[in-house]
Amino acid sequence: MTARAPRRKRSIAFVCEGCDTPTYQGLEGPSAPVVCPGCGRASALAGPGAGDSPRRVDRCLRCGLDRLYRQKDFNRKIGLGVFAVAAILSVPTWGLSLLAATSIDLLLYALLGDVTICYGCGAQHRGFERNPAHAPFDLHIAEAVDREPRAVRG
Ligand SMILES: [Zn+2]
Ligand SMILES: [Zn+2]
Repeated sequence: MTARAPRRKRSIAFVCEGCDTPTYQGLEGPSAPVVCPGCGRASALAGPGAGDSPRRVDRCLRCGLDRLYRQKDFNRKIGLGVFAVAAILSVPTWGLSLLAATSIDLLLYALLGDVTICYGCGAQHRGFERNPAHAPFDLHIAEAVDREPRAVRG
């Protein structure tokens, strides 16, 4: 097993404005409007601007905003399962397995990679190269953008 994460396919996920259905779209093929599986509403993607690297997300591919933040693409269900097991095991081992669980979490973090999220619309971009211009979520930027992003749930 290698420590390097496999290159993930580029994709975008956002919540439909019409019916709140989470909508996912792969970005490896030719760009096409995203059609919501819930209500059939088609949303055109802004796509990268001229001169932007297609492998890096410089602005939101949905709404075109250049305010984005980065977070670990962490699956909470996996994490909670790991911690539940560790909490049971930690009784006889005096907390050593909690340490192990933390290590496993860090490993999962490394394997899962980043997700880049738009401050404006909440769209999640996956599979892109890390953009050094993007920092973790900053409430001040979110307030400056002053929109209501729709978080993608599930
Ligand atoms: Zn919809
Ligand atoms: Zn956006």
